[in-house]
Amino acid sequence: MTTPILHVDNVRKTYGRGQNRFEALKGVSFDIREGESVAIVGKSGSGKSTLMHVLALLDAPDSGQILLEGTDTAVLRGSKLNNTRNKTFGFVFQQFFLTGNNSVLENVILPLKIAGIRRGERKRRGIAALEQLDLADKAKNKAVNLSGGQKQRAVIARALVNNPRIIFADEPTGNLDSNTGAVVEDILFTLNREHGITLIVVTHDEDLAARCDRRIVIKDGQIIDDSAKQVAA
Ligand code: ADP
Ligand code: MG
Repeated sequence: MTTPILHVDNVRKTYGRGQNRFEALKGVSFDIREGESVAIVGKSGSGKSTLMHVLALLDAPDSGQILLEGTDTAVLRGSKLNNTRNKTFGFVFQQFFLTGNNSVLENVILPLKIAGIRRGERKRRGIAALEQLDLADKAKNKAVNLSGGQKQRAVIARALVNNPRIIFADEPTGNLDSNTGAVVEDILFTLNREHGITLIVVTHDEDLAARCDRRIVIKDGQIIDDSAKQVAA
């Protein structure tokens, strides 16, 4: 067996203290293999976003271990942590997080800027990512002027520009109408299937979850089900 891309062992996360103390993750453990598509589902408040933030190294667990390709992520600090996140992960969030007054291209190449890639190369790779998402004609437009679906495609272009190994998507279709949402879903699954990018999607949308290889159900900070997709006979 090859090393899983993510190994999660007994991860706990608590918010607040004293009377406000709230245990959002109560010891979760699982492995994710490279190339898998995994849905993390559960009701609002169950701990999905907390889990994703911890997996994506945006937040540290209080206890437990997260290994990224066998390496303990707890030892990563400062610029080493930022570089690992920037190089390995792409992020697609419901709220887009685009800088409205910057051009679409500037938004897309931000991870390359952070990675210290030279200007010409940034532009070349940014345009290539936009072409992949059918947005090259919007490269110079301000991000604020895009439609919801175009914004989410720009976010996916930005997530892709660094050739990530894992895409983390938190409610990626939550702010989109169903037709546009379906287009965005198709793009994510194409990236997973054709480019082997591991896809970890947080969603309360059962139809989206059903398209993933695997479904992890979380309730009150604990995993209550973790099962591979049932293939119809
Ligand atoms: P989900 O994404 O499944 O809706 P979250 O992971 O966002 O759930 O939140 C899990 C629980 O932790 C919720 O009860 C939420 O109110 C609480 N929570 C999340 N973030 C914080 C925070 N920064 N401070 C205090 N409580 C939080
Ligand atoms: Mg959430």
